[in-house]
Parts: sequence; structure tokens; C-alpha cells
Amino acid sequence: MKKLIMKKLILFTLLAVIMTGCTLDGQDMSNVYDTCTIDSCEYVVVSGVTAPTHKGNCKYCAERDSIKWEKRKAELIKELRYEERD
Ligand SMILES: [Zn+2]
Repeated sequence: MKKLIMKKLILFTLLAVIMTGCTLDGQDMSNVYDTCTIDSCEYVVVSGVTAPTHKGNCKYCAERDSIKWEKRKAELIKELRYEERD
């Protein structure tokens, strides 16, 4: 019985630490990071960190990817039409 209570207590403590451990209560996040554009890509610059990190949802990459996809789609349609003629 004591083991079960100890397991529940440890689990409760872990959950409490996990749920509250990474919050930045009271901090204004707008001062912690900023974004900048380098070579037509958006980067996240975190204050205190010298190396910028490529922004995962970079709007320039999304635009380039959509252009590439439109070109590839046009090529595939062209190939399909060419095969249908044969
Ligand atoms: Zn990018």
C-alpha cells in the first residue's frame, strides 16, 4: 500500500514539475526574440544568442516551394497529356 502511495506521490510531483517547469510567467516574450531577413529567408534571433535560427514557417521558403510545386505540377500534367496521345 505504501508503495502505491509513493508511486502516486512521485507521479504527482513529476506532473507538477512538467506542467509548471518551462513557463516564463511575467516575462514579455517580445523582448526575448526578434525576426530578421537574411538572404531572402526569415531567421529568429534570440537575445543573448549570437547565431540566428532559420524560422520554420519562413514565408519566403513557402513562396519558393509553392512556385517549385506549380512548375512540377505543370510538368506532370504536360507529361500525362503527352502519354495520352501515344
Ligand atoms: Zn527560408
